[in-house]
Amino acid sequence: MEQFSRRDMLKLLGVSALGTAVMGKIAFEPQAARAQGAPTATPIAFFRFSLGAMQLTVIRDAARQQDPAVLGRNAPEGGIAEVMKANNFPAPITTTFNVLLMRNGDKVALFDTGLGVAAGGALVATLELLGVPRDSVTDVVLTHMHPDHVSGALTDGALTFPNATYHYSQAEFDFINKVPSDSPLAQVAATNKAIFEAAGSKLKLYAPDTEILPGVTTAAAYGHTLGHTIFRFQSEGQQMLHAVDTALNSVVSLARPEWHTAFDVNGEMAAETRRRVFGEAAKSGTRIFAYHFPFPGTGFVVAEGEGFRFIPAM
Ligand SMILES: [Zn+2]
Repeated sequence: MEQFSRRDMLKLLGVSALGTAVMGKIAFEPQAARAQGAPTATPIAFFRFSLGAMQLTVIRDAARQQDPAVLGRNAPEGGIAEVMKANNFPAPITTTFNVLLMRNGDKVALFDTGLGVAAGGALVATLELLGVPRDSVTDVVLTHMHPDHVSGALTDGALTFPNATYHYSQAEFDFINKVPSDSPLAQVAATNKAIFEAAGSKLKLYAPDTEILPGVTTAAAYGHTLGHTIFRFQSEGQQMLHAVDTALNSVVSLARPEWHTAFDVNGEMAAETRRRVFGEAAKSGTRIFAYHFPFPGTGFVVAEGEGFRFIPAM
């Protein structure tokens, strides 16, 4: 794991031109944002590993504190606190936002785009520091509609990654286009429609069980949202499952997979999917990666009690 503050990193690199750009855009903007009560920027953190011929880099876009109550809409009174106490897990919970960068052959692909620069997301600054120009990204795979995954796709209304193909779930696309204007999801739908419009002919809709990039296959994991998709990575006999938001929290959501989170569009379906996906991962021993698990979000799951336990591993 490599973790630096931006200032340390810039000092380390001694890149003044880049430093100006990054410090101007990222480090100073959040101070203004902070005055409005918006979240602050995240220090740079990334973790690079390989899976067969694939080079994978987890980029921490952000980390935010959350009220544990979001983890169990249908949990019994005191149930969440009990699971947290049993695991020595402190409240409030810190939720990480892990964006995955994959290099394989001539493909430079991002899995989700984080919160966006305006909200203090560190993805773009981290890519700059890693020497990955935004216009070199060939593919952006959006996993589902939620703003913490898609907001970074646009910067000031334009595509953040101007040359990329934008992969989007057909089921999610159909859902978005049916959200009524008076729905609580209207704003989320508008955010996504703005991306569809900006992407134009670069928007490519995917179905489940389809190889969308060499070695990357989609799998339906509906419930969290109705088009929420997870991804099986395979290269030279090695495998990894990107579980996206199948579980929101590495402790509570795995210990009690039947608890609906505040963000699950269909709680019952999400719970069933959680049990199925992690049941399979526990049985097969497949390495998993998850968007909101503690950085870098990689490890394994084992069956335990009524649910599962996450074993972090790098
Ligand atoms: Zn999420």
